[in-house]
Amino acid sequence: MLDKRNFYINGAWVTPAKANDFEVINPATEQTCAIISLGDNADTDAAVAAARNAFVSWSETPKAERLRLLKALLEEYKKRSADMAQAISMEMGAPIDLATAAQAGSGSGHIKGFIEAFADMEFESPISDDNHSERIIKEPIGVCGLITPWNWPMNQVTLKVIPALAVGCTVVLKPSEIAPLSSIVFAEIIDAVGFPAGVFNLVNGDGVGVGTQLSSHPDVDMLSFTGSTRAGALITKAAADTVKRVTLELGGKGANIIFADADQKAVKRGVIHCFGNTGQSCNAPSRMLVERSIYAQAVETAQAAANAVQVASPTENGRHIGPVISQLQYDKIQALIAVGIEEGARLVAGGLGRPEGLEQGYYVQPTIFADVNNQMQIAREEVFGPVLAIIPFDTEEQAIAIANDTVYGLTNYIQTQDPEKAKRVARKLRSGMVRVNGIDSKGTSPFGGYKQSGNGREGGAWGLEDFLEIKHVTDWQ
Ligand code: NAD
Repeated sequence: MLDKRNFYINGAWVTPAKANDFEVINPATEQTCAIISLGDNADTDAAVAAARNAFVSWSETPKAERLRLLKALLEEYKKRSADMAQAISMEMGAPIDLATAAQAGSGSGHIKGFIEAFADMEFESPISDDNHSERIIKEPIGVCGLITPWNWPMNQVTLKVIPALAVGCTVVLKPSEIAPLSSIVFAEIIDAVGFPAGVFNLVNGDGVGVGTQLSSHPDVDMLSFTGSTRAGALITKAAADTVKRVTLELGGKGANIIFADADQKAVKRGVIHCFGNTGQSCNAPSRMLVERSIYAQAVETAQAAANAVQVASPTENGRHIGPVISQLQYDKIQALIAVGIEEGARLVAGGLGRPEGLEQGYYVQPTIFADVNNQMQIAREEVFGPVLAIIPFDTEEQAIAIANDTVYGLTNYIQTQDPEKAKRVARKLRSGMVRVNGIDSKGTSPFGGYKQSGNGREGGAWGLEDFLEIKHVTDWQ
């Protein structure tokens, strides 16, 4: 069992102010795989003080020096890629190939993307081409509290830590207490690269403890959060008294609109996408909206696709899905499947209980409900497991109305071979991202949502901007 009780504060691994052990559970075995500590006020205060102190010089380091350190970080991160993948797989159950390529790989992808965006970014400019006597200066906002979830741990950590450090902020990271091991590896990488003491700090803890302390801390200038809408609202309230900037990346209930003229692979692609990472992605296309004329065939195709999805141990190589994160999530998903059945949706794949032969570990059957209507709980709540709801529609307007009839607005999907229809529908969808015909972003792009899916944008230049203040100066000679 790993002993990971220490925190990384002011450039050193330190023992917590008070012992408060917390067991990290491997979701594939249900056994404890590591012990961490949950921090308290004294630990949070020490980390914030270190970050505040380091901000004075870090914010004034030349851009070239920060770029040099970020490039060294990318190299070190790549060297530790296997350790990172192992940590992620163990803490949250991602199958090892997914943990290596997509999970750990997303971290290096984001570091590279931010290096390029940061290298190109101008931090000072005249207010306009014909007025050089007024200046716009973009400056780091200060000390940032960063709170991240367990489902894409390194994706979330790098989307926050890298832009913050790049623009000259200093940070205190509090990763999810149920998947903290990858962040500990990340802190080791930062340490090996030799960032100045206090620029990056890591304090483990839970939401009511370190999470709330960071959100309400008078010496924290900004709180960047990814996680549930529930916690996002609590953080916003806790941050209100100190009027700090709060950026939120929250939940989703993405609609995947499959028109009758969609390509042949659209349904199967949608099922596999929904079940990816065992359905634990905020941008999962978890509502499949299918045009009535192809509905019966689409349900059959989806059923076959779900039945072909393998569920197996994260330690095995392959494209199977692993367990869900915890007993709590397992129970929540089972309860929602039961609700779907009670509500009268038609169960066409999977259902209650574990898949055959997998008695230990939080394994869930890939599950599909057909004949869902958008008022049912399984169409409204984020299940965060491998559960897809299929909803029929008759017209383009109706599809748009159903897609938008949700409190969320993160990612929606359109499948059609008519480019004009795709553009028309994309414009009407109330979400931060729209993906057409299974084509994902090819480079750096803004990630974030409308409505209760949040308010910031992470990635590339948009992600750097979130950590900046804007200063306007007159009489610039
Ligand atoms: P969660 O909200 O329970 O926890 C996320 C983090 O917030 C953890 O570090 C937790 O300790 C902390 N936290 C919890 N309550 C807090 C509080 N009151 N104050 C301060 N911190 C608090 O979410 P989770 O279960 O870890 O993650 C799943 C959720 O994250 C899903 O809803 C998912 O959609 C969302 N998510 C969103 C995105 C996105 O970019 N939009 C990406 C990934 C996950």
